[in-house]
Amino acid sequence: MIDQRDVLSAAPPRFTSAEAEQLARQTCGLAGPVAHLDSERDQNFRIDDERRGRFLLKISNAAETEDVLGCETEALLHILATDASLPVTRPCPVEGDHYWASVAGHDGETHFVRLFTFLDGRHERPEALDGAALYAFGVTLARLGRALRGFWHPGAGRRLLWDERYASDLRPLLAHLDDGPRRAVATKALDGYQARALPLLGSLRAQVIHNDFSLDNTLLDDTKRVAGIVDFGDLVHTALMCDVSTALASLLAGRNDPLEVADALLAGYGSVTPFEPDEIAVLVDLLAARLVALVAIAAWRVEQFPDNTAYIMASVESAWAGLSWLDEHGFDSITKSFLQAAPLVRASTVSIAPKRQSSTTDLLERRQSAFGSALSPLSYEHPLRLVRAEGVWLFDAEGNAVLDAYNNVPVVGHCHPRVTEAIDTQARAVNTNLRYLHPNAIELAERLCASMPEGLDVCMFVNSGSEANDLAWRIATAATGGSGGIVTEHAYHGITEAIASLSPEEWVGDRRPDHVETILAPDGYAGRYRADEPDWAERYAAHIDDALAALAERDLRPAAVYVDSGFTSDGILDPPPEYLRELVRRTHDAAALFVADEVQAGFGRLGHCLWGFEKLGIVPDLVTLGKPMGNGYPVAAVIARSDLVDKFAQTTEFFSTFGGNPVACAAGLAVLDVIEDEELVRSAAETGHELHAALDLVGARHDSIGEVRGSGLLLGVALVGDAATRSPDPRLAHRVMNGMRERGVLVGTTGPHRNVLKLRPPLAVRSEHVALVARALGEALEEAGPQ
Ligand code: PMP
Repeated sequence: MIDQRDVLSAAPPRFTSAEAEQLARQTCGLAGPVAHLDSERDQNFRIDDERRGRFLLKISNAAETEDVLGCETEALLHILATDASLPVTRPCPVEGDHYWASVAGHDGETHFVRLFTFLDGRHERPEALDGAALYAFGVTLARLGRALRGFWHPGAGRRLLWDERYASDLRPLLAHLDDGPRRAVATKALDGYQARALPLLGSLRAQVIHNDFSLDNTLLDDTKRVAGIVDFGDLVHTALMCDVSTALASLLAGRNDPLEVADALLAGYGSVTPFEPDEIAVLVDLLAARLVALVAIAAWRVEQFPDNTAYIMASVESAWAGLSWLDEHGFDSITKSFLQAAPLVRASTVSIAPKRQSSTTDLLERRQSAFGSALSPLSYEHPLRLVRAEGVWLFDAEGNAVLDAYNNVPVVGHCHPRVTEAIDTQARAVNTNLRYLHPNAIELAERLCASMPEGLDVCMFVNSGSEANDLAWRIATAATGGSGGIVTEHAYHGITEAIASLSPEEWVGDRRPDHVETILAPDGYAGRYRADEPDWAERYAAHIDDALAALAERDLRPAAVYVDSGFTSDGILDPPPEYLRELVRRTHDAAALFVADEVQAGFGRLGHCLWGFEKLGIVPDLVTLGKPMGNGYPVAAVIARSDLVDKFAQTTEFFSTFGGNPVACAAGLAVLDVIEDEELVRSAAETGHELHAALDLVGARHDSIGEVRGSGLLLGVALVGDAATRSPDPRLAHRVMNGMRERGVLVGTTGPHRNVLKLRPPLAVRSEHVALVARALGEALEEAGPQ
């Protein structure tokens, strides 16, 4: 029984735009101009409501069932809950909490009306997509498949004519094709499918899939990346691979480089979800079945709806071209090429289960005795036991999802598949050290140096931010002959002996090392000089002269000034460029070196630029990198001027066993690739701006928010007890941080008084998450009560 024929053979609804406008007003309370959009079997209208924005009103074909509508609605909500960064439309309730309403059509039939948020973007022709765009298309499709992996709804259990698993149902439709060579090609394609693919299909991975992820159903942005995924009307439970063959059929249309197109799509898809060998073995036949479906269903429908010929026949000629290409090149040679391009799953299964199962209480006790008393305490009053992560989401042992607005290490998103795959592949190939030649470290060093201002041309690999700062200190002291250090008053730069001395945040009591001086951090909100005073930033910078004088009094020459480009431990500050320019000028006048500590701020976090110091308009002598550099895999580096390293080399040889190992550098290279391909620096600026604005809105309702500050996706929310005196309120910050955690959003606290909420989400964070963060902050503040 082919129930899809009902929907395909029933006439599409025929509401006029004026009627749609009336429907929008009556059922959805929307008022505004209406534009008619194309649809194969439904009717779509765009509505511009001046107040509520732009929506899509969909009037379904009379043969559509509530089961299918329910399936579509729940699938979309499931996707948004699982991977909210996927650009799918959000269903909007139309009547009470119902997602559809029924209306009577001219045909006397009942039609369902639904409302969705409108997605912007353009339809593109296949030839507009270059290799990178095709790769990205594959990545998005695979992510959509992953987001749907755990979804089920009875409506997805239908038997669709567009489901390649039932391509044999197309046979009777071949009679609608002209009886000639083309029909023979289609018949041969179905024969091949039945002989080779059909016997394997039952054993392939199956789940609910979109099943029509084509250029017709995706909207692309200016860079040709998928900005909108629409039309979930073919959603069905079938072989996962049908998503790939369907996408491929669409991307090949009219192109003369089919193998290159397939290579890029398969590489992108497989970077997220590697293929099983049998999936690649059936791909040619699934592709052929899809192309036969396109020509046969069109031939059948055009007889029924001659008025709609142009729309129905739009993809037929290119489908025929695809079929004859498959026919000419043959199954074997194309499958061989697919097998070369497609990343495959590994045969072995890896168990990550701990040897001993433990309860959370048990782990808490064992943690204390295993690690001793010096280790930082666990975060949050109600500690987290995390077992899995993806994108901006962390999952605890009970399966609860928490939104990570705190961790900057997973800069491109937790467990980004391109990074995990790069680590995995390299770890299985070889892992050695820099005493042997390997391209990874060299390539990473070259790319990092190329991203820096001229003169910063040498890269030295280590394993942590602390080591990078320690090495920078050794270079600075060797190159200048000085031994004094200057840092901001509450800075943190790391854990080694030398660097703990340069980290006042960690000094206990008045333990100030003799060779270190501190300078005021440029806090224009609550510090000594306020942002509304003239030259406030330069006045802060001028304080370095006091520090230099204090060192000189003790007969110490300065070696280096260290500044964290995000002033993270000083409470997250965003001074104007004049501040650092002045500081660097005075540092150089004193013959000292300026070290930009990019361990926090680097890799795009501040938005607009890859490095925080670029945004601040200065050129440092040494740059230290760490934390996000491997997205969680330990890798860090010092980028230095070669003349400084030459002087250092006269005093010592340098080698770090793990520094620059091929696996760490594979992670580092993948991180740079993802930052580029997913344009994360730009999105850090844009989403950071949105987050800043959303936090400001919460601030407008709560006097205890003194200031929201920072840049890009490094933001601080200063909580105060009294808005007039700007007195810090660390207890409130502690309560709000825990209150947000209870609401499933992770943030931290920072600053000399620990009254500043620290927000540093992975750069993969999107607008949907911004709303969740702002809501959690508002609720946690309300719960914390009147201050
Ligand atoms: N510099 C800064 C600015 C940091 O924030 C940190 C870590 N919090 C470090 C250096 C030290 O990095 P690691 O913990 O990797 O040694």
